[in-house]
Amino acid sequence: MSIGRSDLINIGVLAERAAGERRVALIPSDIGKLIPKAGFLIESGAGREAGFDDNAYVAAGARIGDSWQVLEDCDVVVKVRPPGRSETPGEGRTLISLGGHDPNLGEFLRKRSVIHLALERVPRTTRAQTMDVLSSQAAIAGYASVLEGARALDFLLPMLTTAGGTIKPARMIALGAGVAGLQAIATARRLGAVVHGFDVRPAAREQVESLGAKFISIDDTNIDAGEGAGGYAREQSRDQQARLRRALSAHLATMQLVITTAQIPGRPAPLLIDHETLGMMQPGAVIVDLAAETGGNCEFTRPDETVTVNGIRIMGPTNLPSRLARDASRFFSSNVRSLLAHLLEGSGRLNLDASDPISAALLAGQQPTNTSAAAA
Ligand code: NAD
Repeated sequence: MSIGRSDLINIGVLAERAAGERRVALIPSDIGKLIPKAGFLIESGAGREAGFDDNAYVAAGARIGDSWQVLEDCDVVVKVRPPGRSETPGEGRTLISLGGHDPNLGEFLRKRSVIHLALERVPRTTRAQTMDVLSSQAAIAGYASVLEGARALDFLLPMLTTAGGTIKPARMIALGAGVAGLQAIATARRLGAVVHGFDVRPAAREQVESLGAKFISIDDTNIDAGEGAGGYAREQSRDQQARLRRALSAHLATMQLVITTAQIPGRPAPLLIDHETLGMMQPGAVIVDLAAETGGNCEFTRPDETVTVNGIRIMGPTNLPSRLARDASRFFSSNVRSLLAHLLEGSGRLNLDASDPISAALLAGQQPTNTSAAAA
């Protein structure tokens, strides 16, 4: 099947098959912007759940096909989630998707000579900011976590006065003030809660305070400030983690809504809330644990479940961006478009030049050979 001009690289977009995944990796308007440089083949229905139907893709200049046509005819295959075994492009093709933290997937794709440009590997530099799906999706998750938590709470977030009296605003804290935590803080502030933030990185204090929230200070000098490489947090020792839990518990005992987002790249999430802390918290409080996928920041978190302990509801949603699929897809697609625009040199090939810091980061872990995908 011909999908456009033969001198252009062919880029395919697959529909997502993972349960509950409603996002699409590229939306029509971004395809319209890339079309002078590439031909596009979209799996039928790929954008439907996110609000982009096949006609919109055709109007943008793409063609519509089946998944096997995308896998067979495209030089580059783009999707959101890591591919299942039946969604793997053929030898020598390039795949752009999440999945960079899965060594088994990496090995499988390497054996099949598929170049996997895992979106987690986009460097978090100013130059690559527009390509950073981790940030765009974490921002949406942070916003959505407050809405999820607010809906589960028996408390109002804002102060409210009626003829029956005045209700004080709820107290909220975000543990982990990176991209998701800061967005949760901003959202809870807009909804009228009394908002707090905490992070082991000292730089987070100013960011929390600039949003009008109170930064929680920990007075235990045996707990190190935890800034590691690349601006990320450093993993603490077990003793330090235990000390931190005890220091945080007195603060958590006063909170109604707790959003936890603490992560250490490539490591299990730090345990910040254990049974002892839960024993001190108020029944009716809600914890939304955004670290559920990497083990959770709370001892009782179960991925995609709500668990109740001592009257406290602990939610572990693993894919909140998918619930806001339209805007999450807009951001995701814009990030992928920026990446493709950067990598598409001229109109014929995907240029993966190891001297370019973005390409070099994406190629980390790949075989040193076979680093460019020529047009068909
Ligand atoms: P992340 O998802 O890896 O972690 C979330 C937060 O958890 C981080 O702020 C981390 O410090 C915190 N954390 C880890 N252990 C903790 C603990 N024990 N207790 C409390 N908090 C803990 O991080 P992220 O949100 O992706 O971003 C991390 C950093 O990278 C931030 O400084 C962010 O501003 C920066 N960043 C830079 C760019 C860029 O320059 N393009 C893009 C995105 C993020």
